[in-house]
Amino acid sequence: MSEQIESVETFRLRAREWIKANLGPIQPFDLTQDCADDEEELVAVARDRALQRKLYDGGFAGLCFPKELGGQGLTPEHNRAFNEELAGHEYPSRFTVPTFTPCAAVIMEFGTPEQKLAHIPAILKGEEFWAQMLSEPGGGSDVAGATTSAVRDPATGDWILNGAKVWTSRAWWHDWGIVLARTNWNVPKHQGLTVFLMPLQQAGVEIRRIERLNGETEACEEFMTDVRIPDSDRVGEIDGGWTVGQRWMFHERMGHNSPYVTQPVGLSHGRTEATPVAIARQAGRIDDPAAQELIGESRALGLVASELQRRLASGAAAGKGNTDMSSVARLFRGMANVRQRTIAFDLAGAGAAGWTEEESDGVGVQGMEFLMRQVSCIGGGTTEISRNVIAERVLGMPREASGDKGVAFRDVPRGPKRS
Ligand SMILES: Cc1cc2nc3c(=O)[nH]c(=O)nc-3n(C[C@H](O)[C@H](O)[C@H](O)COP(=O)(O)OP(=O)(O)OC[C@H]3O[C@@H](n4cnc5c(N)ncnc54)[C@H](O)[C@@H]3O)c2cc1C
Repeated sequence: MSEQIESVETFRLRAREWIKANLGPIQPFDLTQDCADDEEELVAVARDRALQRKLYDGGFAGLCFPKELGGQGLTPEHNRAFNEELAGHEYPSRFTVPTFTPCAAVIMEFGTPEQKLAHIPAILKGEEFWAQMLSEPGGGSDVAGATTSAVRDPATGDWILNGAKVWTSRAWWHDWGIVLARTNWNVPKHQGLTVFLMPLQQAGVEIRRIERLNGETEACEEFMTDVRIPDSDRVGEIDGGWTVGQRWMFHERMGHNSPYVTQPVGLSHGRTEATPVAIARQAGRIDDPAAQELIGESRALGLVASELQRRLASGAAAGKGNTDMSSVARLFRGMANVRQRTIAFDLAGAGAAGWTEEESDGVGVQGMEFLMRQVSCIGGGTTEISRNVIAERVLGMPREASGDKGVAFRDVPRGPKRS
């Protein structure tokens, strides 16, 4: 007889009590994910591990993961209820993306029973942070064009990995990564890829930090030299990495709205933003009808983005809709975010004309934020690529012309033409 699942209402009340008794108020770390320096970042990492462990010990970790893997075996509705109750409380923000999704989601979908047992309970206990390693120095949009190579050692059956990945968020302190690598150069690009699980902190993986224009150094690049990976850490079929990769990107696009993610509803990974109301008030424009219209527009965009994502997530959980439809939500979120940031600048007016927080008039936005607004259209795959996916795979429009269709990957021209 199947076990009766607790009703969402009863669960919500139980969660509310537990959260109140066990989790303190939300911390600046949770909101911004930005730390002043590495030391502070590592303190935040340790704190998130402890918080995740607290959720696990309290019976509230991994609500939508199966019980036999340390989860709670509940539904996306239970997860949503928990996340709503979490509002205003601290939570292990660094576990959300990419550890829970796409990484844990990919392991759940394609991992062997041994891989699931080795990693899902460890993630839920706060013992493993996971990074995703898709993008390469040669370009991140053409994911299937990966050139990181994995060659089988005939003596041991292990794989030997060589190559480079880039833009991997916070790889410098992550424990594991999922890596997309090329295992066959003699077939067209989508047919020669394989996915592997790889410990990040090991000899053979050199991790370098990248300083972005705004001074942040959370992005990393990794250089793999003869990294040995046992075949038991291969995910999915040999040369079947594109099947895994497509679902990987789906889970990535689901992002913070994935049923696997625990975080207060409405918050997302990224920098803290003052609300449009707070900005308008600070700028002395709260009674200005034009400002009120902008505040309304910003709020509507946020609501639509969140509901769109939620609808697609519940449709996907119920097996409805095309996997590629997550690109619709991804595109909307990117565009809405840019518009919301532009609205923030409109509301702030001249007060925002400083580069740093100190140089601006304390209106909650400044020049540095303007640079960062485009990030939401790049991270997780660009909005241009989302448009392509929607056109070709959701609307069924003709495919973009491509010179590498049906061509063995080793014969596809790469890099600048040499005379
Ligand atoms: C905050 C942040 C976090 C990130 N974290 C990670 C991470 O953890 N792991 C990881 O693997 N990657 C990560 N990335 C990298 C991200 O996935 C890539 O930046 C993105 O996929 C684009 O790749 P690219 O930067 O190499 O640009 P390119 O692929 O070189 O593209 C350059 C431009 O050309 C456009 N373009 C390319 N091809 C087409 C086409 N066919 N049609 C139309 N336009 C096209 C692109 O949209 C883009 O505007 C992160 C990026 C950011 C900003």
